[in-house]
Amino acid sequence: MIIANPLALIGNTPLVRLNGPSEATGCEILGKCEFANPGASIKDRAALFIVEDAEAAGTLKPGGTIVEGTAGNTGIGLALVGNAKGYKTIIVMPETQSREKMDTLRALGAELVTVPAAAYSSPCHFVHQSRRIAEETPGALWANQFDNVANRRAHIVGTAEEIWAQTGGRIDGFTCSVGTGGTLAGVGMGLKARDETITIALTDPHGAALYDYYAYGELHSEGSSVAEGIGQGRITGNLEGAPIDTQYRVSDEEGLEQVAALLRDEGLCLGLSSGINVAGAMRLARDLGPGKTIVTILCDTGFRYLSSLYNADWLRAKGLPVFDWLDQADGARG
Ligand code: PMP
Repeated sequence: MIIANPLALIGNTPLVRLNGPSEATGCEILGKCEFANPGASIKDRAALFIVEDAEAAGTLKPGGTIVEGTAGNTGIGLALVGNAKGYKTIIVMPETQSREKMDTLRALGAELVTVPAAAYSSPCHFVHQSRRIAEETPGALWANQFDNVANRRAHIVGTAEEIWAQTGGRIDGFTCSVGTGGTLAGVGMGLKARDETITIALTDPHGAALYDYYAYGELHSEGSSVAEGIGQGRITGNLEGAPIDTQYRVSDEEGLEQVAALLRDEGLCLGLSSGINVAGAMRLARDLGPGKTIVTILCDTGFRYLSSLYNADWLRAKGLPVFDWLDQADGARG
């Protein structure tokens, strides 16, 4: 089969059985391979929907510029979509995010603006800075992934429908973590429209406020996480009305244990949000009981984090456990 347009490579990702987590829980735990998108993350889907929605609405015109604030993956998706459609991209990113994502954005031709980390309430927060740049740039679209519901529509009509078809409707639960909430809300809404008995669970990292919100009705956070792209402190436009039945809070250590196991035992090299998601899927599996089918998201490739998650010195500096094999010295063989 020949795909006529590179943009059609976005989505229709495979669903893979995660053997270790499935055997450990007696459930089928399936991972949606979003690292297989052209930009190597889940965010290509949202980028394409946001851009095509703006084109249809007339807010993005030929030769225009796309501006966005992002932890990186949405920027990478927007840069690819922008290149394919002839738009310039300006990407605002907190300087705390991985070097690999910044290098990738530069390599793709995006204009990269890095800003110091700041609270959402500060005008210096990357989201507000990106909005201001969009306002000051003629012909610019502010993608606004957090509150623009074209983001979750990508998952209602895309990701959720694919999961439904790939499982033949045999799915009991879905869980993932939240950055914008587009994935959780969109997949949740799409799956509930097919079968309202499917359990939709939030998996929250430490330092995010949504676990407390869904459990107790109060936005409150404790601790912190080194996971990039997830950890939300407010109810974004995309999260409004999300059908969430239950929630888990997963530590970086628990997520890293899954990242290590998925690499060592299954040959999957993933980012930390994927490990946190798989840990959440195992909790949901244990709550629902044996024999159930649980789907989660494998959000992005681990190759994006070689200088952090997969670097012994970095892990040690963060006080995190180091995967055994990272301490091997390269040796010469005669
Ligand atoms: N994992 C990673 C690595 C991401 O970049 C993102 C997007 N910010 C997510 C998970 C969460 O996806 P969403 O924005 O749809 O909540």
